Amino acid sequence: MLLTITTTAEPATDLGFLLHKHPDRVQRFPQSFGTAHVFYPEADQDRCTAALMLEIDPIALVRTRRRDTPDFSLGQYVNDRPYAASSLLASAMANVFRTALRGRCDARPELAASAIPLEVALPALPCRGGPGLAEELFAPLGWRVEATPVPLDPGFPEWGDSRYVSLTLRGTLRLAAALNQVYVLLPVLDQAKHYWMSPQEVDKLIRAGEGWLADHPARTTIVRRYLANRRGLVRSALGRLAEAEDAPEDALDRGPIDEEPPAAGAADETAGADVADGVVEADGELPAAPPVPLAERRIAAVLEVLRQEGATSVIDLGCGSGKLLKRMLADPFFTRVAGTDVSHRALTMARRALQAVRTNARWTVFPGALTYADDRFHGYDAAVLMEVIEHIDPPRLPAVERVVFGDARPRVVVVTTPNVEYNVRYAGLASDAMRHPDHRFEWTRAEFRAWTEKVARTHGYTVRHLPVGEDDPEVGPPTQMGVFTR
Ligand code: SAH
Repeated sequence: MLLTITTTAEPATDLGFLLHKHPDRVQRFPQSFGTAHVFYPEADQDRCTAALMLEIDPIALVRTRRRDTPDFSLGQYVNDRPYAASSLLASAMANVFRTALRGRCDARPELAASAIPLEVALPALPCRGGPGLAEELFAPLGWRVEATPVPLDPGFPEWGDSRYVSLTLRGTLRLAAALNQVYVLLPVLDQAKHYWMSPQEVDKLIRAGEGWLADHPARTTIVRRYLANRRGLVRSALGRLAEAEDAPEDALDRGPIDEEPPAAGAADETAGADVADGVVEADGELPAAPPVPLAERRIAAVLEVLRQEGATSVIDLGCGSGKLLKRMLADPFFTRVAGTDVSHRALTMARRALQAVRTNARWTVFPGALTYADDRFHGYDAAVLMEVIEHIDPPRLPAVERVVFGDARPRVVVVTTPNVEYNVRYAGLASDAMRHPDHRFEWTRAEFRAWTEKVARTHGYTVRHLPVGEDDPEVGPPTQMGVFTR
């Protein structure tokens, strides 16, 4: 069984760096069920193809099976496994291209983070559901899909088609995204997973599906088929995906992308009515009447701290529609900027906003979830979580702490969050209401301080606290900020 990956991004031979496999070599990787070979049928500057060929040993395959395997007798030895791309190929991909699947490439980090022209071919792919299913699964991800049914026997056209298709995908995607999509969708198309389902399969699916599965129109089919219709697992996976989708700043729907801060005083006129109706503005912003809107003050405060700390490369975690990113790109102090968010809608907006900025800074925006360690979060001077933690369910907050402070470990981390004590200053906000419908909590100054100090202690940082907005003598500032350094 064979998978080929071709790129025409020049120099095309950089594919070798992305896959961590040298184009001049033929390499073998023993698998429990046979041997995987990686080689390059072509490796030129303008076009380079890597092939993963899996040689199956049917006897070894039988030995790795459990007794309750659904195959029986002769079928265990005589089957299509040696020839047809299947979940075995997906397992081999996971072993052989582990680092590439994570999107990691220290030698060519920008290339790993960019969409490049790709062609992925699987000449013999079992496709239960016909060529239409391949189209339904791959087209929404941005691929042009060519799925040609393979006839049962070309000598007897009247016998009709087999359940195999020859699949070619063409598109401009990040290599890691392409690999993860193929990795998940191979077994989905084949629907004959060779190993037994365990709850870890849900984790694998969520991890590999990050950034594309939650929004996929056929996600229910994908999850069901991937998890072999095991009801409990399917439910848990769909639940986790729905959470990823719901998290977004739903306020994004309410405002234009490039909304400039309203002119001084403008917020006044609408403030009363909005709050009385229980409608809260974007970003958890309440239309109080500071001369400079709070969102703007927050951005200014964060930029100021980053500058003081000499942080010229910054990742904005939970970047939303990219307001902070945009400001950093426009400021020559910042040389490398990244943004990530779990919401696709937000990222589309961010990308659009950033493309309009003239800048010399290198920048990238990619989908990511802060609850999972991700190598792409590494390597920046500073990370910013501006108005993000209060969108995280408290039981998941420790995961975010580990990912940011334990794994990514930038020199500086800036966190902002509402100060709930200040809510009494918002006339019209019910006393038990939060500032934004998606907030999971809002903390007092003491609660925030206790959290920041615990996090700093646990992960070896020092933290200082700064007010953002007018520091009210009784209730403190509307926004509180923690600056962690190590
Ligand atoms: N930082 C931006 C957006 C704040 S709104 C600003 O200040 O304008 C909170 C953002 O966090 C949303 O865009 C939401 O999609 C994102 N978010 C929430 N939970 C997340 C998670 N687990 N991983 C990544 N992003 C998340």
